[in-house]
Formats: sequence, C-alpha cells, structure tokens
Amino acid sequence: AARWTLQGTTALVTGGTRGIGHSVVEELARLGASVYTCSRKEDELAQCLSKWAALGFRVTGSVCDLSVREQRERLIRDVSAAFDGKLNILVNNAGTNVRNPTVDYSAEEFSLIMATNLDSAYHLCQIAHPLLKASGVGSIVFISSVGGVVAINTGSIYAATKGAINQITKNLACEWAKDNIRVNAVAPWYIKTSMVEHLLADKDFVQRIVDRTPLGRVGEPEEVSSLVAYLCLPAASFITGQIISVDGGMTVNGAF
Ligand code: NDP
Repeated sequence: AARWTLQGTTALVTGGTRGIGHSVVEELARLGASVYTCSRKEDELAQCLSKWAALGFRVTGSVCDLSVREQRERLIRDVSAAFDGKLNILVNNAGTNVRNPTVDYSAEEFSLIMATNLDSAYHLCQIAHPLLKASGVGSIVFISSVGGVVAINTGSIYAATKGAINQITKNLACEWAKDNIRVNAVAPWYIKTSMVEHLLADKDFVQRIVDRTPLGRVGEPEEVSSLVAYLCLPAASFITGQIISVDGGMTVNGAF
C-alpha cells in the first residue's frame, strides 16, 4: 500500500492564504491531495489559487468568514459539491488573537476569539463528519498552540480556545474511531507568520522567546506543515488523539 502519498485524497484546509495554512495547502497538494481552502480576502485568495494552478497543484477555494455560522455551512456545502460528498482530511487552521491582560478584554474581543478559534473548529468537525465518514478514511488535524498546553503570555482567551481544542482532539479521537476518522492536534510555539510578525519585529521580544527555546530560534511554517501532512498520511494510521508540540523544545524546558 502507498504509505507516503496522499494521491487520490481530498482535503479542506481553513485559512490557506497566509502563514501555516498556506504551507499546509502546499504540503498536502505536493503529496497529491486535492485541496479546498478559504479565507476572508477575495483578492488574496484569487492570487494564491492562480499561483498554485501555475505550480500544477490541485487547489480550489472560496471566500468564507469562519466566525459566521451560516458561512461555515455554505463552505461545507461547497466542499461537498467539489469533492462528491467525500472528504479525507480536515485541517482546522484558521485562528486569531488579541493580546490583552485578562481584565481588559471586551465582550466583543471574547466573542471574536471564541468564534474564530473554537466555535468554527468545533462546528466544522460536526458538519464535515458525514463527508469524512463517507470517504472511508478520515483525518482531522487541529492547529492548536503551546498556549493551550502551558501558560504563555499571549492572552487567556486564546489559551482557553486552544486548551479546549486539545480536549476536543481526545474526545473526537475516541468518539469517531469507529468511523475510521483519526483526530490529532499540532501545537506550535512562535512561527514566522503574519499573525505574529509585529511581535517578531521587536528584538527584545524575540530574545526572550529564543532564551526559552532549546533550539534557540523561532520556527518556520514549513516546520509545522510537515507534521500536519505526516499525520494525514496512511503512514500515521495508528496515531490518534495526540497533541504534538512543534516548539523547538520549549514545553519540555523546565529551567535551562
Ligand atoms: P496568519 O494570520 O498568518 O494566517 C491566518 C489565515 O487564516 C489567513 O489565511 C487568514 O486569511 C485566515 N483567517 C483568519 N481568520 C479567518 C476567518 N474568520 N475566516 C476565514 N479565514 C480566516 O496566522 P498563522 O498562520 O500564524 O496561524 C494559523 C494557526 O496557527 C492559528 O490557529 C494560530 O492560532 C496558530 N498558531 C500560530 C502560531 C504562530 O506563532 N504563528 C503559534 C501557535 C499557533 P484572512 O485574514 O484573509 O481571512
């Protein structure tokens, strides 16, 4: 059997126009998957899709604001139409953050972070489940964060959404094993993307990060997407319910 290829499979990757999601789209497509992606910005999405077409990747997509329930439902209808009702891979990648001290968060900020990171990922699992089951071999990967594993200074609401995702990973892995759907989460530490570029522009900030990180640097999107792709491969067929950090050793660093 072909253990190291995704040839003939279908995938939905949310938030594929930038950062980690962009890298995941390319990694899965390179391994042979047909990929569907989405984002809120029409121009950026169109640019990405034409770039991928030129590279010979099979990628389609549509505009969707994942924080809105009806738009998530439309997205899954479009995915179902594109892939004949069958989906092998769901990568819940899109996410957002607002960094504040806990006492300063507004109700609107709370709702936006919850809706984008948690409601969206949970609801997409619910409504993609029939498609994943119909494909016969399903894999869900959540892009979580080390902020859902240990306390880091990125905001308690964000941390709560990622902690919840880590628990959902375990529950769905057990609940949906009977449907041959594996469920895992990847938990990155600082990765060079548009989400954190304003933070990584601050030399002192980066030094504090690097000092905590045994490998002594921040990560690249490709260092996350490689693990996401691996978890989707037949080669990972006995791995489910796991939360794997991609963090240069940060979460195991007690006091080095
Ligand atoms: P980026 O901000 O660089 O990219 C986010 C992508 O998601 C973009 O394509 C964006 O497009 C899309 N997106 C954001 N919000 C929505 C929405 N409401 N609806 C549809 N699409 C949306 O982020 P990263 O690549 O850094 O982050 C990806 C994931 O990785 C997130 O879940 C994040 O929490 C996690 N992560 C990132 C870390 C890092 O250091 N970068 C560390 C740990 C975890 P658009 O804006 O056009 O909608």
